[in-house]
Amino acid sequence: MVEFKNVSYYYNAGTPEQVRATKKLSFTIGEGEFVALVGHNGSGKSTVARLMNGLLVPQRGEVLVNGVSTSDNKKIFDVRKTVGVVFQNPDNQMIASIIEDDIAFGPENLGVPPSEIRERVDWALEAVGMSEHKRGTPFRLSGGQKQRIAIAGMLAIKPKVLVLDESTAMLDPIGREEVLKTAMELREKEGVSIVLITHFMEEAIKADKIIVLNGGAKVMEGGREILSMSEELDEIGLDAPFAARIARRLREKGVRDLDDGVYEIEELVKKLVNIE
Ligand code: ADP
Ligand code: MG
Repeated sequence: MVEFKNVSYYYNAGTPEQVRATKKLSFTIGEGEFVALVGHNGSGKSTVARLMNGLLVPQRGEVLVNGVSTSDNKKIFDVRKTVGVVFQNPDNQMIASIIEDDIAFGPENLGVPPSEIRERVDWALEAVGMSEHKRGTPFRLSGGQKQRIAIAGMLAIKPKVLVLDESTAMLDPIGREEVLKTAMELREKEGVSIVLITHFMEEAIKADKIIVLNGGAKVMEGGREILSMSEELDEIGLDAPFAARIARRLREKGVRDLDDGVYEIEELVKKLVNIE
C-alpha cells in the first residue's frame, strides 16, 4: 500500500537552516499490515507521517501510495483518500462544533455525495464506539474520546492505511488502550493497514513489523525480537519493554531458562513461576 524508495526530506531546503529529516529511507507497508514506527524525539517520525499522505513531498527518492507517486500533483486526492493520518493533539484536529459535522468535513472536501457522507459518518462513529455522541459537541469529551472522534474523521474518508502519529501520547492508559483497540478492530474488520508511530515500546509488541528510526535513517527493521535488543535500543535513546528489560537483568544475574522472547509482564510471570 505504501512504499518509500530512498526517501530524503529536507526542511528549509537550500537555505542555511536546511535540516535533513529523513535519510534515504526505504520500507513498505503491506495491505492489512500492522507496522510500528519507533524512534526518539526528532528521529523523523512525524516527517514520515506527513510524507505518507503527500503533505510533504520528498526532494530525493519517491513515496508510492497504492502505486501512485505523492509527487504527482494530479493524483494527490487519491493519495489523501488512501492514507489517513491522525496527529498527536486531537484539539487541533477538531473543526466543527457538532461531532457529526466534524466527521463529515473530510469526505465533503473530497467531493463524496451527501447521501453517502451520512452513511459514512454513521459507520465511522460506530467503528470507534461513539455513535451516541453523534449530535454532541467534541469539546466536552475526554482525551481518549476526542482522539476516537479524530480517528472517525479519518475513517469517513475510508483510507486503506491509517497512520496514528503519537495519537495516544497525550492520553491516560485507558484512553491509550481505547485508541489501540479501535485501530486493531479496524484492521481485523476492514483490512485497514495500521502504522502506529510511538515511543512507547510496549505498543509495538503486537506489530507485524517494527521499523526503528534514528536521525532520520532506518536503523532496524524486523519482528518483535527487536524489542529484546535492549542494548542497541538504549544506544539510540529507546527503552525496551519493561518485561524484556527485567528478563535481561535476570538472565545477567544467572537466572537460567529465561529466553529472549519475553516482552509482556504476564509472559514473564508465567515463565518465572515455571522455573525450577
Ligand atoms: P519526530 O516526529 O520523530 O519527533 P520530526 O519528523 O518531527 O521527528 O523531526 C525530524 C527533524 O526535522 C528534527 O530534527 C526536527 O527538528 C526537524 N523538523 C521537524 N519539523 C520541522 C519544520 N517544520 N521545520 C524545520 N525543521 C523541522
Ligand atoms: Mg513527531
